[in-house]
Amino acid sequence: MAEEKELRYDPAAIEPKWQDRWAADPALYAAEPTDCGKPKYYVIEMLPYPSGQLHMGHVRNYSIGDALARHMWMLGYNVLHPMGWDAFGLPAENAALKNNTPPREWTLGNIAQMKTQMQRLGLGYDWATEVTTCLPDYYRWNQWFFLRMYEKGLVYRKQSKVNWCPECATVLANEQVVDGCCWRHETTQVAQRDLEQWFFRITEYADELLDGLDKLEGWPEKVRTMQRNWIGRSEGTEVDFFLAEEADQGLGTRDEGLEKQGPRDQGTEGPEKQGLGTRDEGLGRQRIRVFTTRVDTIFGATSVQLAPQHELVAKFTAVDSALKAQVDELLEQQKKAREAGDLGAIEKHGVPTGRFAVNPYNGARVPIWVANYILADYGTGAIMSVPGHDERDFEFATKYGLPIVQVIKPADPAVDETLPFCSEEGVLVNSGEYDGMSCADAEKNLQEIAAARGFGEAKVTFRLKDWGISRQRYWGTPIPMIHCLSCGLVQVPDDQLPVVLPEKIEITQQGGSPLSRVPEFVNVNCPKCGKAARRETDTMDTFIDSSWYFYRYTDAKNSTAPFEPAKAQYWFPIDQYIGGVEHAILHLIYSRYWTKVMRDLGLIRNDEPARRLFTQGMVIKDGAKMSKSKGNVVSPDDMVGRYGADATRMYALFAAPPDRDLDWQEDGVAGVSRFLGRVWRLVTKHAAASRSGALQDGSGALSSTGQKLLRKLHQTIAKITLDFEGRWHFNTCVAAIMELVNELQGADAQLTSGEVPATVVRELLRNLVLMLAPFAPFLSAELWAELGESGAVLRAPWPKSDPELAKEDEVEIPVQINGKLVSVVRVPAGSDARNIETAALADEKVQARVAGKTVAKVIVVPGRAVNLVVK
Ligand SMILES: [Zn+2]
Ligand SMILES: [Zn+2]
Repeated sequence: MAEEKELRYDPAAIEPKWQDRWAADPALYAAEPTDCGKPKYYVIEMLPYPSGQLHMGHVRNYSIGDALARHMWMLGYNVLHPMGWDAFGLPAENAALKNNTPPREWTLGNIAQMKTQMQRLGLGYDWATEVTTCLPDYYRWNQWFFLRMYEKGLVYRKQSKVNWCPECATVLANEQVVDGCCWRHETTQVAQRDLEQWFFRITEYADELLDGLDKLEGWPEKVRTMQRNWIGRSEGTEVDFFLAEEADQGLGTRDEGLEKQGPRDQGTEGPEKQGLGTRDEGLGRQRIRVFTTRVDTIFGATSVQLAPQHELVAKFTAVDSALKAQVDELLEQQKKAREAGDLGAIEKHGVPTGRFAVNPYNGARVPIWVANYILADYGTGAIMSVPGHDERDFEFATKYGLPIVQVIKPADPAVDETLPFCSEEGVLVNSGEYDGMSCADAEKNLQEIAAARGFGEAKVTFRLKDWGISRQRYWGTPIPMIHCLSCGLVQVPDDQLPVVLPEKIEITQQGGSPLSRVPEFVNVNCPKCGKAARRETDTMDTFIDSSWYFYRYTDAKNSTAPFEPAKAQYWFPIDQYIGGVEHAILHLIYSRYWTKVMRDLGLIRNDEPARRLFTQGMVIKDGAKMSKSKGNVVSPDDMVGRYGADATRMYALFAAPPDRDLDWQEDGVAGVSRFLGRVWRLVTKHAAASRSGALQDGSGALSSTGQKLLRKLHQTIAKITLDFEGRWHFNTCVAAIMELVNELQGADAQLTSGEVPATVVRELLRNLVLMLAPFAPFLSAELWAELGESGAVLRAPWPKSDPELAKEDEVEIPVQINGKLVSVVRVPAGSDARNIETAALADEKVQARVAGKTVAKVIVVPGRAVNLVVK
């Protein structure tokens, strides 16, 4: 009985012991100085929001990153593997309302809990670089960056329609509106409000953000595609139509507008007389700027269409209540489609305004319509409708009986020119002096004319909007600006940073910023004139916190700068960034933007934050994402308590390829735990032999068992090493270790008897433990010591596979006679055709079939098969 007890694997004894030792040795997981001479490796898992409890998605994310970090340490790299807390945000305020706990206290308490969980899991973080975004030593640099960006013109303030979540009682970025609802409150419809807001000019970097994606070859293609679509670049032209004079308006009938369709006066009398669209006549007239990707078709425009929210529409409806009622209907339809999440599929409706617009190129008058499918926030919120050459416009014109005019015909006469003809492989017709010109040439010419006469320009538009960063919340970074009645907007001077969040505050659900109700915070003297002034009371979007946190890791204690440029230059770009694909748009675009801004501020040299990005799959249970409401949450603490941290982590890597969803099965964790028990017994049992092997020389002949075990060992090393280099099939890595352990257990007698020499036992066990180290750090530390090794397993070099030893020395070759399989022969790997033929003919079964007959032909495919033709 005593022996049985001794042979029980007990993670509850092993793991806390090593956890204590590691805690007492912070240098173990610490990055070395930048002049240490080793190559650097910077690996990060995305920092969590401190909700108070790790979930299995975290465990999986961190197990992947930690395995990689440990592997790189063992390869001799200087590894930076930090962790931090994305600690501002709404849940802290909600918790404050619910439990009457101040947000700071609640947040820091959660952080302490989660840090304990991480340490219990044995995650190898450099805690000296820990970043907590809600602390003034971090967020003061958000403020500092804000001011630098303000000075560079990258920050501005404007009155704008904002997305307002009534539940959050705050503004949401466009990115935080999902199918018309709040991203946090999936059933709460987002309303529109007018507010003075702060914006970051991210659109200034739109082109670079787009082009940079081509170079990010280490990022998943799906993430790059999502970003491309989000940025949504289209090249085209902005053109001003002119609002026809009030006096003209009554005269304009639909027909009259169209009679004038087509070029007038072109070229013959000089530009100054060219229709209504000349600069002189255009000046002072109300303009309607449209965006089009096909200005070459402008002579075919038969209406101008406005988004229901367009400012001109408001002017029209102000004096026309019937029109207002119709426009309200359009707005309602648009809202419904937005809520249904499919604006693209909206059933198109429009109403004529009775007003006319003038085509600046030929003076043609066309009716102005309001349509429900024109979006206020795309392009200029106004389009020219060219039904002859656009599917959507064709559909609309057909429905409402608007004229359809052909102005492009196919360049190739063999091509069908039925309207709508939407190809750009065409030449202009019915376009006056441009007739016969190719679409491409016409576009260029028309753009030049628009620019020269001041009614338009070539324009690239983006779906990407400037980043609205104002939040009317308490638990975020205060915006470091002051409103002075005399001086206007005044920056908080750098030496007055940080603007610290007041601690004593009553969180309520009433609208507006909670900070505006704290007089000690709001009332301030203007830094310029000294008169009484007011602090800005909006706080910053928390996505700012996570836009640059990984730079702070490189110099987390710096109190005079966000970080020392030399340190960031050493560590950046990040070699491997690991996190969920749900961050493909927001965090990963904002942090790319921030990197480019910091580069332009001269702080860093890299253009992109991360060289490689990996997005792990979700952890699900019973086919659904784990969630409290579904009652299918598996607690990491529970798993660790029952099976140990090693088994929990290793299962998270073993149960599915890291990029796929993982369906959590407790049986599987138990299975991994049993496997680790077998490893523990195997190594413990033969540790003495292994230790004695260290004292012997390894010369002498090796038994076939020894050879076979070494072959399996070196094959396993080769496989795992290859996977770490980029395939990341950690599930099959763990499986390969299991196979190796099976073989070792199968050879227990030979290991025990000494048939396998102690030097070989040592090589087998040592390397087994080394390969386990990235996946099961506690057990491998324990067994490393058991094998008599001093020093941390993390500092031992990663094993190298010997290709000679890994080579299979025998292969099986099927033998066929007249196309039928009769036997299988074993030959040395790499045997030539003659040897394989000899072996086949020597086989008993083959000889029995061939007896008394003639072998007419032998066909050998070396390494594959032998075919005998027998008569
Ligand atoms: Zn909300
Ligand atoms: Zn002032």
